[in-house]
Amino acid sequence: VEHKTSNFLRAIIERDLEQGTYASRRWAGTPGDAAHHAAGEPDPAKIRTRFPPEPNGYLHVGHAKSICLNFGLARDYGGVCHMRFDDTNPEKEEKEYVDSILDAVQWLCFGWDTSFGGRTESHLYYASDYFDVMYRAAEALIEHGHAYVDEQTPEEMRANRGDFVHPGKDSPFRNRTPAENLARFREMRDGVHADGAMVLRAKIDMASPNINLRDPAIYRIRRATHHNTGDRWCIYPMYTFAHPIEDALEQITHSICTLEFEDQRPFYDWLLERLTEAGLLQAPPPRQYEFARLNLTYVITSKRKLAQLVNEGFVGGWDDPRMPTIVGLRRRGYTPEAIQLFAERIGVTKADSWIDYSTLDIALRDDLEHKAHRGMAVLDPVKLVLTNWDEVMGAGHLEPCTLPALPHPPEGQPAPAARQFVIGREVWIEREDFEEVPPKGYKRLFPGNKVRLKGGYVVECTGCEKDADGRVTAVLAKVVPDTKSGTPGADAVKVKAAITWVSVADGVAAEVRLYDRLFTDPQPDAGGKDFKASLNPASMRTITAYVEPSLAQATPDAKFQFERFGYFVADRLDHAPGRPVFNKITGLKDGWK
Ligand code: ATP
Ligand code: MG
Ligand code: MG
Repeated sequence: VEHKTSNFLRAIIERDLEQGTYASRRWAGTPGDAAHHAAGEPDPAKIRTRFPPEPNGYLHVGHAKSICLNFGLARDYGGVCHMRFDDTNPEKEEKEYVDSILDAVQWLCFGWDTSFGGRTESHLYYASDYFDVMYRAAEALIEHGHAYVDEQTPEEMRANRGDFVHPGKDSPFRNRTPAENLARFREMRDGVHADGAMVLRAKIDMASPNINLRDPAIYRIRRATHHNTGDRWCIYPMYTFAHPIEDALEQITHSICTLEFEDQRPFYDWLLERLTEAGLLQAPPPRQYEFARLNLTYVITSKRKLAQLVNEGFVGGWDDPRMPTIVGLRRRGYTPEAIQLFAERIGVTKADSWIDYSTLDIALRDDLEHKAHRGMAVLDPVKLVLTNWDEVMGAGHLEPCTLPALPHPPEGQPAPAARQFVIGREVWIEREDFEEVPPKGYKRLFPGNKVRLKGGYVVECTGCEKDADGRVTAVLAKVVPDTKSGTPGADAVKVKAAITWVSVADGVAAEVRLYDRLFTDPQPDAGGKDFKASLNPASMRTITAYVEPSLAQATPDAKFQFERFGYFVADRLDHAPGRPVFNKITGLKDGWK
């Protein structure tokens, strides 16, 4: 566990805990969570955060930052984080997204048992469960003279809102009495009026320098079937009205969102203050805090643009290993622990910035270095024939070999069983490990030179065979007897290099997908750039490699370090033991051509 770096949110939470800001709260219970707290009343002095996605798409690495932040703060300060669906917009939301979001959060929070309240259906929060309370809150605002039904056309409303230079103009409907407004609002609810005919607006200040306070709309008429409430409602609350109420009902203490909501904070506070005065909510209200959203180089995180990549066939789907979606990262082989480490390291700030993609890869390597079993794979194979094998070792002999699965197991953990494989007369080696005429300083196979086959024998190169085009079809060598790794005298013959290899006898052909960045531009969509113009044509290459038996028998989703090449994962969907398919996660060191 790494040391937790402080940040402005931690400072605020520590101050609130010290001052007992929320200690006077009584637990009011949350509509829709009857089953939730059967075990007893939660401690109101605890901090409460929430992760509130709209179920209108797949989560991406930016959401992962928010998940790690909210669940992480709750975990670190003994609090609770609510998994809440902000599903107040009937048009864009679908059950498919609800399921995929839950799956992503559960996967990412793996091991965080404290905050995700048991991970069962009854511990989930849906904003749409609060439609009744939101409706009552709207009536309360009307009764107290804080809201009115506006019958201006959308065009008139837009024109009368003013802009940064000009103050807005009051609506002719602004001074209706509460009784008139209430009657109209109930007509809206009862379906008397057409979609868009009128809206309910908060009555604040049409001259406010903050345009968000110029009587924002809070309820609109929209005949649409909602995934949770069906056709019960034909009016729906606006996000800016619904969100503070959701937070308050769930007794959230710290409502953390991205910077673009900073200008909404005055309305957030205005609304909760009015509803507390009206006796609908308890003091002290939740507070909103903003942080800079994650921008990651070579990555786009707009849901709309990601959908374009999928729909126009630039990637294989939402879970394509090149996608920055959580399902994509997972399929690529990134671990929840690596993503949590990444989120912890990038921290939270109030200033927008770009995080280098290598930060994520470094976190992956730090997570897997002591966990991922080693294995040998030959990615660009050429045959190495040990011409004296039958004579020295016996015809057809296969010699068992072994190497540790983990050379440095984590402290206090037993080493896993060693890998078993064989060596025989023919092995696969990397094409680049032979040079007929060696460049200066070359230490691998060339006629007359000796190298060690890692975990096997020392061999001495004698030459090669070529086809008519001069391409090497086989490398020839002699095995040096009595040099098997791990046997007495193995080191008697000195070599300058050890190379990786896989036996022809027990190596298994594997599909290996080599990935590179999806875009060649580090900021593919910054400043309105056409992100499709910088799609990397070489972002995926599929090859056939040979892998040692331990890799061929891997279970789907198992991660490995292919010696010398980097980290690979057995594809979650396409890999089967005996029919291996691997995805490259990242190389051993950073370095991108
Ligand atoms: P859309 O793309 O439709 O605008 P969104 O990105 O706002 O959606 P939500 O489902 O509303 O997605 O987001 C859920 C939470 O994730 C919000 O609290 C939001 O602030 C946070 N979030 C979204 N994108 C990022 C990002 N790039 N960095 C950090 N947090 C993010
Ligand atoms: Mg949103
Ligand atoms: Mg957004």
